[in-house]
Amino acid sequence: MIVAAIIVAAGHGARAGGPIPKQWQPLAGRRVIDWTLARFQTHPRINRLVLVLHPDNLPDWPQIPGVEAVAGGATRSASVRNGLEHLAQSDVTHVLIHDVARPCTAPGTIDAVLDALEHYDAVAPALPVTDALWHGQAGRVTGTQDRAGLYRAQTPQGFDLAAILAAHRGHPAPAADDVEIARAAGLDVVIVPGDETNLKITHPGDFARAEAHLWGRMDIRIGNGYDVHRFGPGDHVMLCGVAVPHERGLQGHSDADVGLHALTDAIYGALAEGDIGRHFPPSDPQWKGSESHIFLRHAVALAAEKKFNISNLDLTLVCERPKIGPHAAAMQAVVAEITGLAPERISVKATTSERLGFTGREEGIAAIATAALIKP
Ligand code: MG
Repeated sequence: MIVAAIIVAAGHGARAGGPIPKQWQPLAGRRVIDWTLARFQTHPRINRLVLVLHPDNLPDWPQIPGVEAVAGGATRSASVRNGLEHLAQSDVTHVLIHDVARPCTAPGTIDAVLDALEHYDAVAPALPVTDALWHGQAGRVTGTQDRAGLYRAQTPQGFDLAAILAAHRGHPAPAADDVEIARAAGLDVVIVPGDETNLKITHPGDFARAEAHLWGRMDIRIGNGYDVHRFGPGDHVMLCGVAVPHERGLQGHSDADVGLHALTDAIYGALAEGDIGRHFPPSDPQWKGSESHIFLRHAVALAAEKKFNISNLDLTLVCERPKIGPHAAAMQAVVAEITGLAPERISVKATTSERLGFTGREEGIAAIATAALIKP
């Protein structure tokens, strides 16, 4: 089974309010679209990810590795069709079709659909209706509706790719969803249990419900790092990967980059993974004279391996001299390059210690760092 997920994000979603379509609106620190993509990017059984965007949004979409952006059509059905046609000549055997407005889909819901696709050509998650149903008119109840046999449909809806592609090609008219198109083509659609948290952002109040769920499930870690290196002979100091001219250098086993060491230890700290010395023992001669970006890259990779996103890094260098200010932007850029974070998530600042203590006597430089890591 080779599985592609198609995320349909070409609509304009006017009912959710706000100045921009709902998929681009902020939600729990990211955008709706980022949360929805992450659900499928991180799922181990999904091989390809196709994002169907409004043609107006396509030029602005930053190419993200592993996300294939495709232009949508005039209707939801036409957008899905474009996503399916994009996969037509591939080795993909099954497809999940998902609304971008459902950012809280649990991995278990995706698994339930995929498990059923092992045996059936069309599968959709749904929840039985439990509330009483009424007919109403002008604010008055005019009748009741038996809820037996009624379901609330969710996505992702899963299909055999060849079967749903043929169904779409034979059904050019708009449809409510892909289940309608599948049934029109004679496919049997199997219902698997949906999830109450798999809500669809439709009205303004849905943002708050989705945020409560996403914040509540997030794993947030904070780590600190502290490092000191002593001055010795030299003509520059390495600070955050930038060679800053100075009449002395910093001494250490590696390049003595006190800034990168503190940042690295902050990330290890957030992960409860010890410190640089544990991962790169000073007793091991292979790390002698190392460039310290190696350590920071290792910590960043370890965070990614444990499925944490680094939210931000904050570093304070403590020294009387050299002056850090003129180099802070260059240091921020280097740390951004090493970590893959946006520069606005990296803070590099400095303070003196008012000529007090070892930093005040210019015997060395100290650095203190904080890292915030989030597992969505
Ligand atoms: Mg150090």
